[in-house]
Formats: sequence, C-alpha cells, structure tokens
Amino acid sequence: MIRFHRVNKHYGLFHVLKNIDLSIEEKEVVVVIGPSGSGKSTLLRCINRLETISDGELTVDNVKIHDKSTDINKLRRNIGMVFQHFNLYPHMTVLDNITLAPIKALGVPKREAEETAMSYLDKVGIPDKAKSYPSQLSGGQQQRVAIARGLAMKPRIMLFDEPTSALDPEMIGEVLDVMRDLAHQGMTMVVVTHEMGFAREVADRVVFMDQGRILEESQPAEFFAKPREERAQLFLSRLL
Ligand code: ADP
Ligand code: MG
Repeated sequence: MIRFHRVNKHYGLFHVLKNIDLSIEEKEVVVVIGPSGSGKSTLLRCINRLETISDGELTVDNVKIHDKSTDINKLRRNIGMVFQHFNLYPHMTVLDNITLAPIKALGVPKREAEETAMSYLDKVGIPDKAKSYPSQLSGGQQQRVAIARGLAMKPRIMLFDEPTSALDPEMIGEVLDVMRDLAHQGMTMVVVTHEMGFAREVADRVVFMDQGRILEESQPAEFFAKPREERAQLFLSRLL
C-alpha cells in the first residue's frame, strides 16, 4: 500500500533520508522508532507529501505521489495524520472540528457529517464531549478528538507522529487503547512512538531508524528480544 524505493531527501545540504526502501502492506501496523533527529517525522510526512522527496520513488496504492499529475488533495483524503500536538481549532467545538473537513473537502451534508462524527466520538470514548471546546478537554481527550477527526475522512491509512509524547503519563493509555482498537479493526497504520509496550504488542513490524537510514526491520518479538544492530541495542537500553 505504501512503498518507498531508494528514497532520498535533503533539507538543503543536509541528507535527512538516505536510500529508504520500505514496503507497507494493507492492514499492516508498522512502528517506527529511533533517536531524535533520525528522520522519523520526515519519513511520515513524505507519505502524504507534507514533504517532497529529492529522488527515488514513493507510491501509495501504486500512485507515484510526487508526480505532477497526482491529485494531492485526493491522496491526502485517504491518509489521516495525527500529530504530537493535537492541532485542533480552539475556537470550534469538538463536533465542528471533526465535521469541518468532511463538509468542506468531501461535500458531505452537515447532518450526515455530524452523525458520522458522533459515531467516531463514540468509538474514541467521548461522545459526551461533542459540544465542548478543546480547551475544556484533557490532553488525552483532545488527542482522541484528533484521531476521530482523522477517521471522519474515512482514510485508508493513518499516520501517527508521537501521538502520546505531549501527554501526561496517566493519559497515554487511553490514546494507545484507541490506536490498538483501530489496528485490530484492520487500519493500515504507520506509527512513530517511544511506547515500546505498544510496539511490542500491536506492531506487525518494527522499523529502527538512525541518522536517516533504516538500520533494522523486524518482527517485534524478535526485535525486542535481541535487536541485530548495535545502535538499536543501545537505543533500547537507554529507554529502559
Ligand atoms: P525525528 O522525527 O526522527 O526526530 P525529523 O524527521 O524531525 O527527525 O528530523 C530529522 C533531521 O532533519 C533533524 O536533524 C532535523 O533538525 C532536520 N530537519 C527537520 N525538518 C527540517 C527542515 N524543515 N529544514 C531543515 N532541517 C530539518
Ligand atoms: Mg519527529
């Protein structure tokens, strides 16, 4: 569903992604880990073309996403993204935050968009917050709204960039629970996270990045039992 083939990316003179080869199947959950600055966010952001690549090929559903002819809006509709900072509109209610894009970008009638939004709020466990404003919610609740907002576009792929890193510890679990459910329902997911318990339990594959390269790609059981790469071993030992 997502395929990087010899992808390189530079920020000016800085070579941030180095010869990336990575294929992600439909319904697969891939967790990307690695030290800060290793290129994890950049890798994710290339998938929905928030960043351009310098060379190589990147396809989503066999569409070359960096072709001039590719309809970027259509591509992005199929790819939901959840960030570390929830990026909700502060002046809009939870319901309006979730229905905005379906109404504006997909032309869904308001009533229908609201029904869909409510079903996703239900799914993330906060149907009672529909009329609240983001500032009235906890961080964990705001992040669950952000996930519901992503899902409301009915994407085929969800990208998560450290979705729990800005949360107080007691709220991390509720967000990971929602992500776990989503994985079990068959969503294709690419997740950058430092939550190793989640990676171990939910990931089909763990990708370890360091200095712009993918150093290791393995099954979680194998990876956590004994990473092959010394740098991965060091990274894990520092997390414990
Ligand atoms: P990670 O998510 O693994 O921490 P990033 O993908 O955010 O890594 O960043 C990788 C490297 O690229 C870092 O050294 C960062 O400073 C650099 N970088 C990220 N975004 C930009 C940018 N827009 N311009 C220049 N350098 C950037
Ligand atoms: Mg990052």
